[in-house]
Amino acid sequence: MNDNMERVREVFTQKSTRVDTNKGEEFYNSLFEKSKARLQSLREQEPLKDIDMMDIIDSEGINRRDFMKWVSATTATLMLPPMFAPLVAEATELMNRVPVVWIELQDCAGNSEALLRSSAPTVDDLLFDVLSLEFHETLQACAGHDADKQLEEAVHLYKGKYLLFVEGAIPMANNGQYGTIGASGETFYEHLMRMSKDAAAVVAVGTCATFGGVPAASPNPTGAVGVMDLVKGKAIVNIPACPANPANMVGVILHYVLTGQVPELDSLLRPKFAFGYRIHDNCERRAHFDAGEFVEEWGDEGAKNNWCLYKVGCKGPMTFNNCSIVRYNDGVNWPVGVGRGCIGCSEPDFWDKYAYERPMATARIKAPTGGVEKTVDQFGLGLLTATAVGIGVHAIASVVAGKKADENKEI
Ligand code: SF4
Ligand code: SF4
Repeated sequence: MNDNMERVREVFTQKSTRVDTNKGEEFYNSLFEKSKARLQSLREQEPLKDIDMMDIIDSEGINRRDFMKWVSATTATLMLPPMFAPLVAEATELMNRVPVVWIELQDCAGNSEALLRSSAPTVDDLLFDVLSLEFHETLQACAGHDADKQLEEAVHLYKGKYLLFVEGAIPMANNGQYGTIGASGETFYEHLMRMSKDAAAVVAVGTCATFGGVPAASPNPTGAVGVMDLVKGKAIVNIPACPANPANMVGVILHYVLTGQVPELDSLLRPKFAFGYRIHDNCERRAHFDAGEFVEEWGDEGAKNNWCLYKVGCKGPMTFNNCSIVRYNDGVNWPVGVGRGCIGCSEPDFWDKYAYERPMATARIKAPTGGVEKTVDQFGLGLLTATAVGIGVHAIASVVAGKKADENKEI
């Protein structure tokens, strides 16, 4: 274990390969002009919902200065230079021009819950009041045949224009009979394919919709898979985590409103602005990791002193997500902040590979797959039992997925 810990420290104290945040003046100038034209054309369209963002901001007692602070922070979060701030502010007002259809498949509705979580609404939350959510069976009032009708009308009326949000995995075993919708008994698979056909882009929300999540955990009796395993030839954005952070959902929509395209994605189709960060690199317990101060068992002195949770199973070193920065529940806290290690919920196969209370170095499992960062592969090579063949396959898969992500960028 001591040898292992030395090697763990050696790999995980290396600087993580950062996402490229500066694309050069020419790139930003061209994106700026494109975004300006995009916002102008949205402004000329009729709003789909007669709600004004600035009215809502006023009625919630948020002053202009606080709103502009949020705009600056959001512009930086989207990895855009400050010159985009006025356009980001304008995009918030034009959210009501973009139709969103939200469907739920094999899920617990946790991502929808996350959307509704706030005690005092933040600007992020308020944007969902402005957004034209054309269909969301959990949040809307109508049900049964009325709900079916509303959905059909929305996809017909906004053909080629709507963002399709998908929450939940898709059960494929037994001809998809583990999940059906409505009186017609349409399977989740058929439903997803029909709804995604005319979408401008498909956004898979939560780890079930992205990588299969908990329903796909071994032995996966329903044959659950994620959206990207089935939907092809279409821009797909994955926003994994259990639940997905609403700030990341807002970021994807805002980016689309602003630019008319999905944000830059990693090899697993996750937006780099949110998943280009490794939990471990922004963790408040990181100094204790570097100093070799670990919680050895729950409730010990280390736990009382907020030392690093690696030895009790924290998977922050191999997990990519911005939760250590954005946090949950109105930014109040996050798992490591309350003394529980990260279980890697935004990585593929997280339930089988990460969600247990042992450090990765002592687990008889293969290296985590996916991710854009060099250190993930180094970790696999240096510490685990992955074979050279396994790593090779992963590298090839990453390149292929990376190409797919590039193709998906323009929509
Ligand atoms: S608690 Fe987890 S994420 Fe934080 S420093 Fe330790 S291993 Fe890294
Ligand atoms: S800390 Fe880890 S387990 Fe918790 S939400 Fe973030 S990625 Fe998921």
